[in-house]
Amino acid sequence: MSSPSPLDIALHDRFGLTAFREGQREAAGAVLAGRDLIAVMPTGAGKSLCFQLPALLVPGTMIVISPLIALMKDQVDRLRARGVRAAAIHSGLDPDERRDAALQLQRGELDLLYVAPERLASQRFRQMLEETRPSRLVVDEAHCISQWGHDFRPDYRRLAGLRAQLNIPAAAFTATATPEVRRDIAQQLGLTDPLELVTGFERPNLTLAVELCRGRADKERALRQLIGDLGTPGIVYAATRKHVEHWVGVLRSLGVKAGGYHAGLADAERRRVQEDFQSGRLDVIAATNAFGMGIDKSDIRFVAHADLPGSVESYYQEAGRAGRDGLPARCTLLFSGADLRTQEFFLAGGNPEPATFRRVWRMLGDGASDEEVEDRIGPDAMARAAARTAARVLRRAAEHRGVALGEGEPPVDLTARQSKQQRDRERLDTMVRYAYGRGCRTRFIYDYFAGGARGGHAPHCGTCDVCLGWRRGTGRPITDDEYERVRIALSAVGRLSGRFGLERVAQVLVGSQSREVIDRGLDRIPTYGKLSGATLDQIRDLLNLLADAGLIERHGIEGGRPGAFVLALSDAGRAVAMGKERPELPFPDAAPAPAPRKRGKSGAMLAGAADPGLVERLRSWRAEEAQRRRVPAYVIFHDSTLAALAEHRPQSRAALLAVRGLGPAKLEAYGDALLELLAT
Ligand code: ADP
Ligand code: ZN
Repeated sequence: MSSPSPLDIALHDRFGLTAFREGQREAAGAVLAGRDLIAVMPTGAGKSLCFQLPALLVPGTMIVISPLIALMKDQVDRLRARGVRAAAIHSGLDPDERRDAALQLQRGELDLLYVAPERLASQRFRQMLEETRPSRLVVDEAHCISQWGHDFRPDYRRLAGLRAQLNIPAAAFTATATPEVRRDIAQQLGLTDPLELVTGFERPNLTLAVELCRGRADKERALRQLIGDLGTPGIVYAATRKHVEHWVGVLRSLGVKAGGYHAGLADAERRRVQEDFQSGRLDVIAATNAFGMGIDKSDIRFVAHADLPGSVESYYQEAGRAGRDGLPARCTLLFSGADLRTQEFFLAGGNPEPATFRRVWRMLGDGASDEEVEDRIGPDAMARAAARTAARVLRRAAEHRGVALGEGEPPVDLTARQSKQQRDRERLDTMVRYAYGRGCRTRFIYDYFAGGARGGHAPHCGTCDVCLGWRRGTGRPITDDEYERVRIALSAVGRLSGRFGLERVAQVLVGSQSREVIDRGLDRIPTYGKLSGATLDQIRDLLNLLADAGLIERHGIEGGRPGAFVLALSDAGRAVAMGKERPELPFPDAAPAPAPRKRGKSGAMLAGAADPGLVERLRSWRAEEAQRRRVPAYVIFHDSTLAALAEHRPQSRAALLAVRGLGPAKLEAYGDALLELLAT
C-alpha cells in the first residue's frame, strides 16, 4: 500500500475520521490540486469535508459562499473547535464582528471564510476579497446560481463576476443538480474543464417505495402500515398547511405524538416543534417543504410524502433525510392521481401568464393593495394565486430596479418566466414518471442526477420496492376470459395510440355516449363498447393494471397539463394485442398474498420451514452476503423469502423467480449462489 497522502493525514489528525466516504477523496483531491470541480452529493453525504480538508493544506484563505446563514455559525464553531481558523461574514453579525472577520482575512489569519451571497453586492467587499488573494472559491448550494434549478437566488448571479475578478480555481457543491443545471453552473462560474463528480446517491439502507393510493383513506392506511413496520421517528411531508393539519390529526388519532410544521406558524412555534422532534418529545412531524433545512436527526426511520412533490430534486432531498444513521429506513411516496390537481394549482399559481403580469402591473400602478388586486381578479382560486404571485414578483422587481409601479412595461423578463414555467412542468412530469415507474427506483434517481457524469453507479439497487418485488404480485396465468378482455383493451389503446388519455379510452371501451366520444367519432372504432359489461371504474383499473404491467405506456403531452398522459402500446403490449403472447397478470381475484412488508421477527417466520438445516445455511449465507455488501441482511432477502426458499426448494432460475421477494435483479445477483445452496 502506498503511504498515506496529506489528505489522509489531515482526515485522521485534524478531523479524527478514519476513512473517506464515497467521492470525498476525489473531490478534496481536485480542490487541493486546484482543478475546477462540480460535485453533486446528496445532503448529509459529507460535502463540507471536501473543501475543509484541503483548506488546511492550501496556503491562503478559501472563500466559501453559502446561502444558509443559520448553518454558517454552526460550521464555523465546529471548525474552530478543531483548531481550524475559520470565520464568517454575513448580515446576521453585528458590524464589530464583521470587521473582526475582515481584519483576520486581511492579516492572512484564516483558512476558511464563509460569506453570504448578499455581501457580494458591495463593490468594496469584492475589492477587499480580491486584494487578500484568496486561494480557492467554493460555492455551496451551487444550484442556486441557475435559473434552471429549483431554488434560484438572484444574489448568486454575482458569483460569475466574482469568479472572473478573483481568477482562482473554483469548486461548486450541490445536493441537487441535473445535468442541465450542472452545465449552467459550469458556464456561469466560468469553470475550465471541471471534474464532474456525482456520488453518494446510493443509500443502501433506504428503501424507496411508491404506494399507489386511491384517495385519503388509502393513504391513511398506508401510513399506518408504514409506522407499524418501521416505527418512529418519521416525517410526513404534505403540500399545504391544511394537509399538514389533516395529517397531524390522523397521526394523533393513531396515538402517535405528532406535531405540525409549516410557514404559517410563528417562528417561536416552529422552533419549538423542531426542538421537540429533535429531542424525541415528538415522534412524527407532519410538515410542508419548509421543514428540514438544517435538521440534524440521524435516526429518522421513514419519510412519507402524502402529496406529490413538484420535482425529483425536492423529493430526493426530503426523502434523503431518512436513515442518516445507516440503519434501515423507508422513503414512501403515497401517490394518487388526484394529487396532480394540487400540483397543477401550484404550477399555475406560481407562474402567472404574461397577460396577468401586465394586468396586475397596471393595478399596482393605480395603487391597489395585494388584497385589492386579488379581489379585482375575481373568485377563481388559481387566478387569484397567480395574481398574488405576480404582485409579489412585480413589487420586488420594481424596487430592485427603482421604477415606479405601473410605469411602462412590467419590469420582469416575461420570456424567461415562460421558460421557467415550461421547466417546472417538465420537472413535475418527471416526478410523475417516478411515481408511475416500474423500474428500479434508485436507478431512476441516479440516472436523473448523474446522467453521464463520473461517480458511483447504481445498477439494480436490490432495496427499492420494485427490486424487492413488493409491488403487486408477480402475476398469475390468466383465464381465457381475462385474456380476451386484455386484448380488447389493448386493441383500443393501439387504435387510439398516442392521442388519448386513460379516461377517453375507458369511455370508448364502455361504449359511452358522451360528447367527447361521439364528436370525435370514437364510437366508430371496432372496440367501441366491447367492454360494456364492465363499469368505467373496472375498465380504468384494467388499463392501469396493464400500464403497471408494462403493456401500456403513459406518455406525457408536450405543452399539456402536467401529469396528463396519453396511452400507447408498448412492444410487449402489441404482442399481446395481436395474440402472440399471453401474459401473466396480477388480477385481483387471484388474491395475491400481501406484500412482505413485515420485518421478520428473527426467525419467527422461519419456524415452520421444512428443513431447519437448510434454513440455517440460507441464513448464514445471507449474513455473509450482507457483510460483504455492507447492507443490512433484510436488504438481501427478507426472512419470509428465505422461508419460502426453504419450503419450496426451487431448482431452476425460473422456479426461483416464482418466489415472492425474488425479482429479476435478485435472480441476477444471487441466483447461482442460491441454486447451489438449494441443491445440497
Ligand atoms: P452535507 O454538506 O453533504 O450535507 P456535511 O458535510 O454536513 O454534509 O456532513 C454530514 C455529516 O457527515 C457531518 O456530521 C460530518 O461530520 C459527517 N462526515 C462527513 N464525512 C465523513 C467521513 N468521511 N466519515 C465520517 N463522518 C463524516
Ligand atoms: Zn431498486
